[in-house]
Amino acid sequence: LNSSANEVRLSLADVEDLTRKVLTHNGVSDAQAEAIVVTIVAAEADDCRSHGMYRLLGYVRAVEAGKANGAAVPKLDQRTPALIHVDGGRGFAPLANEVGRAALIASAQSLGIAVLAINNCYHNSAMWADLEPLADAGLVSIGLTAGQRSVAPHGGSKPVFGTNPFAFGWPRLGQAPFVFDFATSAIARGEIELHRRAGKTIPLGWAVDAEGNPTTDPAAGLAGAMLPFGGYKGTALALMVELLAGPMIGDMTSQESFAEDAGAGSPPLGGELIIAFDPVRFLGDEAPEHFARAEALFASIKSQEGVRLPGDRRLAEREKSRTAGVLVPAALLAELHQLRDHAGPA
Ligand code: NDP
Repeated sequence: LNSSANEVRLSLADVEDLTRKVLTHNGVSDAQAEAIVVTIVAAEADDCRSHGMYRLLGYVRAVEAGKANGAAVPKLDQRTPALIHVDGGRGFAPLANEVGRAALIASAQSLGIAVLAINNCYHNSAMWADLEPLADAGLVSIGLTAGQRSVAPHGGSKPVFGTNPFAFGWPRLGQAPFVFDFATSAIARGEIELHRRAGKTIPLGWAVDAEGNPTTDPAAGLAGAMLPFGGYKGTALALMVELLAGPMIGDMTSQESFAEDAGAGSPPLGGELIIAFDPVRFLGDEAPEHFARAEALFASIKSQEGVRLPGDRRLAEREKSRTAGVLVPAALLAELHQLRDHAGPA
C-alpha cells in the first residue's frame, strides 16, 4: 500500500480537489466540473484508472482545441412520456447524464419503461457510473455508447467501430447493485499500447495488421485495427451498440466521430442511450419474490470455486480506497499539477 517513486498515494479528497482545480482552471464551468468530479473520483475509487484522472488530459485538450464546450448547459426535452432527450451542447457527458437522470427515473417509475437519449457530448466514459444511480433508485437498466473508430468487423481489416461499450445494471436486495460494463472490443487500445512500450507481443485475436492479417506485433496492430471480442458475435453486438447509440438517436457513428476529431486527440464526441425498467411496474407486489429468485441465481454463481460476479472487484476496491486512498502515477500527477497551476487562481 506504500507509495513508490513511480506512484503517489492520494486520498479521495485530494483526487476530488485536484480534479476540480484542473478543470475549472482550464475553461470548464463549475457545473460541468462538479459532474465530472463525481465520475472521476468514482473511477479512481473503484480502481478503474483508465477512466480516472488520466482522462483530464484529454478533457483539457478538447477544450483548448475548441472542440468541447467547457461551459455547455445541457438542454432537456421530454419528447414523449417515455422518451427523454438531452442535448449536451458539445459539453461533457456527466452533466448531461445528471440533467436527464431525474426525468428518466420519474418516467420509468410512472410507465414501467423509459429511455434517455443523450446527444452531442464528449466522452460517455465508464458507463457503470451512469447506471449505478438508476439501480439505487430501484431500476434495471441498459446503457450503450459508441466511440471513435478503431475496431474492424470480424473477417475485415479496416476500423469501423469504436470500442463500443455495453453496460447493465440490476438492483439487489440489501446490497450494492450488480453492474457490468465492458467494451465490445477484444481488449482496450491502451493495453496494446502498453505492450508496445514494454516490447511485448500481443496475443492473437486482439488486432490485425493493415493488410488484415492476424498479428502478435503491437505496433502492426495499432497501425491496423483492433478486433471485436467473440468474433462475428462480438461484431454484431458492436454494430447493435453503434446503431442504437448513433443513428437511432440521431448521433454520430464511430467513423463520423473519428472524422470530426480530425486528429485533435479529443475524447469521442457522440451519444449515449440508456433504457430503464421499473420492476415494480412490471411485477407489482410480486417484485420482491422475483428479485429473491434473482438472488438465488447470483448465489449459485458465486458458490462456485473461483467464480466472481462482474463488479465485485470494483466494489472491493471502493471499500479499500475510502480509507487507503488511491495510487496515481507520479508522471501523471506532475502533468496534472502543471495544468492546475498554469491558468487560473490557486
Ligand atoms: P474489463 O474487461 O476490464 O471488464 C469488463 C467487465 O467484466 C467489468 O464489469 C468487470 O468487473 C468484469 N470482469 C472482469 N474480469 C472478470 C472476471 N474474472 N469474472 C467476472 N467478471 C469480470 O472492461 P473493458 O476494458 O472492456 O472496459 C473498461 C471500462 O472502459 C468500462 O467501464 C467501459 O464502459 C469503459 N469504456 C468506455 C469507452 C468509451 O468510449 N466511453 C470505450 C471502451 C470502454 P470488475 O470491474 O469488477 O473487474
